[in-house]
Amino acid sequence: MEDIYQEILPFASKGKQADYIPALAKVNPDQFGMCLETVSGEVYPFRQADTRFSIQSITKVFALAMSLSLKGEALWKRVGKEPSGTSFNSLVQLEVEKGIPRNPFINAGAIVIADILMTELDDPEKEFLDFIRALAGNDTIDYNMEVALSEREKGYLNAAIANMLKYHGTIDNDIEDVLMFYFKMCSVEMTCRELASAFIAFTNACPFDFAGYKLSPSQIKRMNAVMQTCGFYDEAGEFSYLVGLPGKSGVGGGIVAIYPMRYAVAVWSPRLNSKGNSVMGMKALELLTTATQESIF
Ligand code: GLU
Repeated sequence: MEDIYQEILPFASKGKQADYIPALAKVNPDQFGMCLETVSGEVYPFRQADTRFSIQSITKVFALAMSLSLKGEALWKRVGKEPSGTSFNSLVQLEVEKGIPRNPFINAGAIVIADILMTELDDPEKEFLDFIRALAGNDTIDYNMEVALSEREKGYLNAAIANMLKYHGTIDNDIEDVLMFYFKMCSVEMTCRELASAFIAFTNACPFDFAGYKLSPSQIKRMNAVMQTCGFYDEAGEFSYLVGLPGKSGVGGGIVAIYPMRYAVAVWSPRLNSKGNSVMGMKALELLTTATQESIF
C-alpha cells in the first residue's frame, strides 16, 4: 500500500470534491485512506483508514441487499439491471424508458429502492441503520443529518427524478418522504476499515444472514454482477478495464471493491474525476490488482 501510495501521489491534487452537496464541499480534499480485509479476518489499514466519511452511493449496495432479501426476483420488475452508460443523476433515460430506472445504482434506481423499503418496513430508517451496523459489526455507524439536509436543500435533480418516477407510478410513497430517506441513506458515514469489513459479507465466503436479512450465494453472485456492470455510473467499463473487480463508488470519494472468496478493499480520497469517481481511489485499486497480478479476469 505504501508503494501504491507513492505511485499515485502525483495525482493527489487532481479533481475536486463533490461541491453540488454543500456539506461535502467543506470536506478537506487532501485525505487518503485504504483498508483491505481478507475473508480469513486479516485487516490491513493504511493512512486514514479510520476516518469516517460520507459513503453516498456506496449505500446503494446495502439498500439493494435489503430489498433483494425482501422481494427476491420480483424486485427486478420495479428496477432494471442493465448498465446505464449515463451519469448517476441523469434524467434522460428515465423519460425515454417511462419511469423504470436502468439499475439500482443510479440515483433513479436507488430512489425506487428507498420507496420499496419504506413500503416493506415498519421503521425503515432504523432498520436500514441496524442492517449496516450488523454488517460492519459496529453500533456507532450513523446518518449525518447535516449532509442529508444540505443535499435536500440543493437536491433539485433528485427531486426531478422522484417526480418523474411518481408520474410514471414507479414509486408509491410521498415524494418528500422518499427523497428524505434516500438522502439520509446517502449521508451514512463509515471508515475504510468499516466498509471493508461490511463488504466481506458480499465476498460469498460465508452465509449472508445479518439483522434478519438473508441472501443466498446465488443472490450474492448476482449482486456482484450488478456491481461489476453498473457500480461506477458511466465509468463502469473503465473501472472494469482498469481494476477488474466488482465494486461501488460514491461521490464522498469512497470506493469499495470485492474479490469474491478472497477479500474486500475500501479506499477513500475526496477528489473526484468528472464522472464522480475518486481519482486516487481508482488509481490505487488499479495498482493493487496490477501489483498482485490478481483480478477476477
Ligand atoms: N447522494 C448523491 C446524489 O444523489 C449520491 C450520488 C453518488 O454518490 O454517486 O447525488
